Amino acid sequence: MAITLYDMHTHTEYSHDSTQSLDGLCAAELAAGVAGVAVTDHSDGLYSHKNGDFERLIRSNRCCREAAARWAGRLEILSGVEIGEELWSPENAAAVRSLADWDVVLASNHCLRMEDGEYLGLGPQDYTVWPQEKLEYFMQRYLEHLILTARQTDYDILTHIDIPLRYITGRDGRILQQERRADLVDELLRTVICRGKTLEVNTSGLAGSWRTMPETDTLRRYYELGGRRISIGSDAHTAANAAAGLRQTAELLRSIGFTGQTVYRRRQPTEIPF
Ligand SMILES: [Zn+2]
Ligand SMILES: [Zn+2]
Repeated sequence: MAITLYDMHTHTEYSHDSTQSLDGLCAAELAAGVAGVAVTDHSDGLYSHKNGDFERLIRSNRCCREAAARWAGRLEILSGVEIGEELWSPENAAAVRSLADWDVVLASNHCLRMEDGEYLGLGPQDYTVWPQEKLEYFMQRYLEHLILTARQTDYDILTHIDIPLRYITGRDGRILQQERRADLVDELLRTVICRGKTLEVNTSGLAGSWRTMPETDTLRRYYELGGRRISIGSDAHTAANAAAGLRQTAELLRSIGFTGQTVYRRRQPTEIPF
């Protein structure tokens, strides 16, 4: 049976870390057989001012609405935003949410605030030289902050919930004792479920040599705990990565028991059956 695919997490030139044109992205999504794409350009709260987020995001939204008309009948184009680090920049996040008539708001954390007040980016660290206990603690702290984010903030989809592992294990080859954090993962999943929010399966790792975020066991656990709202996002920053891994992930989700993907329009959820 054919699967209707939506890519609910992508970036364009209106993100600080992408130069991809919107039409180029849309052409690649359409060629990959995608029915709809959400453009979710970044607002990383801690750097928002430096990045000129507000102006960029208004333009992202406007361009999406114009493109939606151009691509009508071929590809549905949704306009969203990925708000990062809201715990530590709530005023920025509130302002970003009210900037435009977003279809979808993603919540994410790309760095970690340590006890001394320092913020550590997840990607720039060299985890190969960290002591094991520091690594274990880092991941624990990441999850604790993500639980607070999931519990306190106004979002639709919680993104790439185990992204530190992409760098710690996927890139730097360090193995963590995941069972030490099973309770925290359960608490995070339960928070998403209780609030009626949606968990993202981020497939950007599949374009490299990593896996989905989160991995299959956590997706099964989410389903087991009663989670039904699920979305898939390629997190593509280039047309080359558009829709990467979407189809195989949709098939995986169907095999777990999920009956469809949750898509948002004007921040209202709808299930698109697989
Ligand atoms: Zn992200
Ligand atoms: Zn992203």
